[in-house]
Amino acid sequence: MRFSQLFVNTLKDAPKDAVLKSHQYLMRGGFIQQVGSGIYNFLPLGKKLLDKVRYIIKEEMDKTGAQEILMGFVTPADLWRESGRYEKYGRELLRFVDRKDNEFVLGPTHEEVVTFIAKNGVKSYKQLPIHLYQIHTKFRDEVRPRFGLMRGREFIMKDGYSFHSSFEDLDREFDVMEQTYKKILERIGVDFKIVEADSGAIGGSGSKEFMVLAPCGEDTIVVCKNCEYGANVEIGSRALRVSPRPNELRYDKNPPKAEFARFYTPNIKSIESLSEFFKVDRFYLLKAVVKKAIRANGSFELVYGFVRGDDEIEETKLLNTINRVDSSFLSLEDAELEEMTQVGLEAGFIGPYGLGHITQSQYIYFDESLREAQGLICGANEKDYHFVGVDLDTFENLNFVDIAKAQEGDLCPKCQGELYYTKGIEVGHIFKLGTKYSHAMNAQFLDKDGKIQDLIMGCYGFGVSRILPAILEQKSDELGCVWGKEVKLFDLAIIISNVKDNTQNEFATKIYEECKARGIDVLLDDRDERFGVKMKDFELLGFSFALIVGKGLNDGRVELIKRKGLEKFELQCDENTLENLLGILGRNS
Ligand code: ATP
Ligand code: MG
Repeated sequence: MRFSQLFVNTLKDAPKDAVLKSHQYLMRGGFIQQVGSGIYNFLPLGKKLLDKVRYIIKEEMDKTGAQEILMGFVTPADLWRESGRYEKYGRELLRFVDRKDNEFVLGPTHEEVVTFIAKNGVKSYKQLPIHLYQIHTKFRDEVRPRFGLMRGREFIMKDGYSFHSSFEDLDREFDVMEQTYKKILERIGVDFKIVEADSGAIGGSGSKEFMVLAPCGEDTIVVCKNCEYGANVEIGSRALRVSPRPNELRYDKNPPKAEFARFYTPNIKSIESLSEFFKVDRFYLLKAVVKKAIRANGSFELVYGFVRGDDEIEETKLLNTINRVDSSFLSLEDAELEEMTQVGLEAGFIGPYGLGHITQSQYIYFDESLREAQGLICGANEKDYHFVGVDLDTFENLNFVDIAKAQEGDLCPKCQGELYYTKGIEVGHIFKLGTKYSHAMNAQFLDKDGKIQDLIMGCYGFGVSRILPAILEQKSDELGCVWGKEVKLFDLAIIISNVKDNTQNEFATKIYEECKARGIDVLLDDRDERFGVKMKDFELLGFSFALIVGKGLNDGRVELIKRKGLEKFELQCDENTLENLLGILGRNS
């Protein structure tokens, strides 16, 4: 490829709304072009990178026996009604009608469509397992599309779906996919962490996310200093807490000694003021959190979570907990003061005594770390009063569940090592779906004994377009793009310093032709531009190497620059130039 023929416009400045470096470089490098909020065109260089990602994914997926298909981007709403997700998916699902008033959605994910395929194609256990995948456009009407390709509305995903006759076989495939994603990310060339994850609106029993580690990542992951444990903070757990975190300790680390009593605490409503009032560490205070759980139809229930005073509620865990009772809840919001007053609660003084009786709520939960907790201080459900000397083990039928956020300094649930936080960009997510979709949509098979069973499913998503900004967030430098191992932009760019110089032109063109013949993905920068402009483009676009054919040629020398780290190599111009050049590229890529 000759640069003079390449369709690319590089820009000096990025658009104002581009805050992340990946977004700035993708726009300045002319890889992509925005056409609407969260909607992008891929221009030739962007498409070239995307194709590299697709190629790696296809190669690794096909090796496992998965088969590539292409499903309709537009999906009849009826399929989504069958699964029950038409209402439940919320406003990210773009719904529309055709000229005959038939209803459709733009696929944000394809469980429904693929289940329809399996329902019509699978009859017997003998056909199983089957794994079908596609690399295709998705649409999600995200509330805040941002950061360019990182969170688009229209984006490209690889989504795979597997069908099994037993849960053991699903587990096997899930492990195969974990290994496959690992391989894909290693080939792409990024540092990543595999973490336990929430299954969200897609549902199912177990899931793992693949996080590219980068400070701008929108996900917080909790990781053990000592072992492999890692989880999205949304579901991350921890070992049972038995004492306050040493670095947060305010008062005595031992439980306060007090007989059970009702105590006058005028206007002491917050955990901070309560801790100061009694000179007791927050660990021994019972924090009550009241949330509004909202259904798709807009109705809501108040739900109650108790955690230790130095802990926080993790909303995802609380939402999952109540959805196990009634799966119609979509989200949680803070309850308004008025809403609490209406059910007879004294905000600031809420406690467990008589709470079920006052509120009639079936959604009252205590965090695991409160199991057998003694010497606590809690609200008395009466204005200006708290109870001291509270032992939760004297209560009957309390619901203890893991609803608190695992924090830095807490201990690992696997090995008791110390936990810390880091940031990740979610580029992949794999799920064990079980029979959720097949059951709802009647996708069944005949088992060995001739009995009808629901198909057992797994699903496996990978953010094909998101991986490009993820690579850049991790690898790029202050000059521009640095790409990954196999996802890269040209192996070599040959830059002719002065195109009006015949010797430079002839030498560069000869090397260019030879490289092409040797299968090197090579670009000849033959533009009639200043040398500085060409170098800036090399740095901004991130070609793997640049061979500078300039004045040094008169002394029989050319210079090779590796984009990553800008390492320089000098080459003599003789009969071995090409071999030496290829040798350096081979050893250093
Ligand atoms: P997120 O939490 O970032 O919104 P998600 O959990 O909703 O993502 P999945 O449903 O698990 O996403 O989709 C599989 C993969 O598709 C994700 O791991 C991610 O890489 C990619 N993806 C999801 N939403 C977007 C988006 N709006 N833009 C680009 N890629 C996306
Ligand atoms: Mg996800």
